[in-house]
Amino acid sequence: MDSSFVMPALFVGHGSPMNAIENNDFTRALTAQTALLPVKPTAILCISAHWETAGTRVTTSPAPRTIHDFRGFLPELFAVEYPAPGSPELAARVQLMFEDGEVQGDERWGLDHGSWSLLRHMYPAADVPVVQLSLDRGLSLEGHFELARKLMPLRAEGVLILGSGNIVHSLPRIRWEQDAEPYEWAVEFDQAIGAFLRGGNDAGLIDYRRLLGRNAELSVPTEEHYLPLLYAAAQRRDGERLSFFFEGIQNTSISMRSFQIG
Ligand code: ZN
Repeated sequence: MDSSFVMPALFVGHGSPMNAIENNDFTRALTAQTALLPVKPTAILCISAHWETAGTRVTTSPAPRTIHDFRGFLPELFAVEYPAPGSPELAARVQLMFEDGEVQGDERWGLDHGSWSLLRHMYPAADVPVVQLSLDRGLSLEGHFELARKLMPLRAEGVLILGSGNIVHSLPRIRWEQDAEPYEWAVEFDQAIGAFLRGGNDAGLIDYRRLLGRNAELSVPTEEHYLPLLYAAAQRRDGERLSFFFEGIQNTSISMRSFQIG
């Protein structure tokens, strides 16, 4: 790999688990964007909204299991397996980037639907090793951002850092009609975060609650789907390009806005 190469980083709004088995505008955009990456990644480090732990953990299994972490969906969705290998080497590399014990290895977690519902559209052959990094429930937003910054050298090693969440994720207010009109507060919040991202306003991304008030309260009732975007945004180097490859609000209150750094 030439010495100036850096792998892009991605944040993808994953939305409903059904996206895993659907073929829609969003899944097609994700497949197309993946095909535009300059090279196939050496491995993927995925930060999913669906793995929260006490302290930060990294999956160490050489053969991570597919976790069906949802209820009430079609049997077809429970039948999905995503048999990508893990990468104990990448897990060890990540641990070495931090103080002793700051990132713990985890043999039991595998791939939750935050990762595999996207990866099936990105690498259907499941031939790129995947490691997940958890969200530490005890960290502040600044803490998450700083931790994410330390992962930046992985990009030069060909690792794809993939945040998987949703900028607006308000299940309490969701409506399931496909074409239901999005809530105004959801549209406004999504656009405000989009503007922070476009302008490289990391402080705004971190301090969004104070800055965006009621729109933030309604759009982010719990923070786990918001946090993965910080892991992608933190990968941006000075002057580096950020582009949105998908935008839109599904089911009135789920933002599918997705972006690439680099
Ligand atoms: Zn989710």
